[in-house]
Amino acid sequence: MNNSTTVLHKAAEILENVSPILEDEVICAYVRSFLSQRKLFLDFSRRYGTPVYVFDENVLHQRAEQFTTTFSKEIPGLRSFFAMKSNNHPAVAQSLVEFGLGLDVSSGLELENALATGCQHILFSGPGKTEAELDLAAANSEAVTVLIDSFGELDRLESVSRLRNVVVRAGVRLTTEEKGLWRKFGVPLAQLESFMTMAEDYEHVRLCGLQFHTSWNLTPSSQVSFLIRLGEELAAMKGQRAKSIEFLDIGGGYWPPRGEWLHFSATPQGRITQMVLPEAKGGDRYRYPAEPLEIFAAEISKALRRHIFPYVECQVFTEPGRWLVNDSMHILLTVVDKKAEDLVIVDGGTNIVGWERFETDYFPVINLSNPSFMERDCFIFGSLCTPHDVWGYRYFGEGIEPGDILMIPSQGAYTYSLRQSFIKPLAQAFPL
Ligand SMILES: *Cc1c(COP(=O)(O)O)cnc(C)c1O
Repeated sequence: MNNSTTVLHKAAEILENVSPILEDEVICAYVRSFLSQRKLFLDFSRRYGTPVYVFDENVLHQRAEQFTTTFSKEIPGLRSFFAMKSNNHPAVAQSLVEFGLGLDVSSGLELENALATGCQHILFSGPGKTEAELDLAAANSEAVTVLIDSFGELDRLESVSRLRNVVVRAGVRLTTEEKGLWRKFGVPLAQLESFMTMAEDYEHVRLCGLQFHTSWNLTPSSQVSFLIRLGEELAAMKGQRAKSIEFLDIGGGYWPPRGEWLHFSATPQGRITQMVLPEAKGGDRYRYPAEPLEIFAAEISKALRRHIFPYVECQVFTEPGRWLVNDSMHILLTVVDKKAEDLVIVDGGTNIVGWERFETDYFPVINLSNPSFMERDCFIFGSLCTPHDVWGYRYFGEGIEPGDILMIPSQGAYTYSLRQSFIKPLAQAFPL
């Protein structure tokens, strides 16, 4: 998933924005919040072994509570649907459904898992849905709303629904960027009206909503700019057409408020770092700040009132993933081998997160067995036969020895669902 283009892109952007250094105080406060529960995590590692994911359901509920209250204050009647792809552990979806959220799925497999939770409010989005996947949605048309990705898909959904003799509730996904990779998603805004016209002739699809999704939103600016464009389109719509829109789904992509933490020491020889950031030292850490959720809710609400609600009276949906689950899982590892003062190998490889995340992303490595607020230089390698299998370049601890339990906090988003059995087996998750 990771590649050097992304790293270059990020590095270039940081250079432009005046490198925001991640302050030691911020990291220490974060480390302290985990060391205060050190005994609990050590007991957990003895009970379940390592490598292992710790699932903290309390944190998940706190986030769900905070998310829904913050948004509902600004946007009354808003409904949230958890994007299952961000963490596909069944207990996570189950827990959020019991809390009262709907689910957002992107495949037949996710749809089956969503149905198994008993959830009655499921959105099915994603490109290239197969006939079998659409049929599963039609077979569960009471619970499922299909977010159609193209004209062809509208046609296929009509066919499978006709065969089952049901009317499927649907929305259409809109393309937010007409150029580049994001073109892959949805129908261009310029074709929305003809899409709606076409859908009117279909008896087994009830098109009553719009959806868009932007990603990696450190601020609400992408969401707000698209709402402005959408408003212009709705204003120009003929007759009563806009009145058929009952819901507007603004997608997910909210970045957790700690911001994005990066380091570039990861490129093994510092190659890219030196090319783009000649002054950067290997261990420098950067922080892209993210706006708190209150700002997202306020800005999006303002844009809705100004640009959308004058033309359509609709319910608002949102599809958070990362924001909800990020802090609800942590990884515990055991040091197996110490090959030098500054080089250890642990029992879990980055296959348990599924990508070479820590080559660019910085998370503190916390030695729970021998804790300290001092961070020391040391290569923390996984045990896979590849040098890219790195967890970090430093650790918080008095020292580091075989048998020590290390913690990588906040690994709840886009890790558990991306884990793969490559060389080593998958790691399991258990409740704390
Ligand atoms: C991935 C995805 C989400 C969730 O994104 P996060 O960044 O995890 O909040 C929501 N909606 C759609 C359509 C997605 O593809």
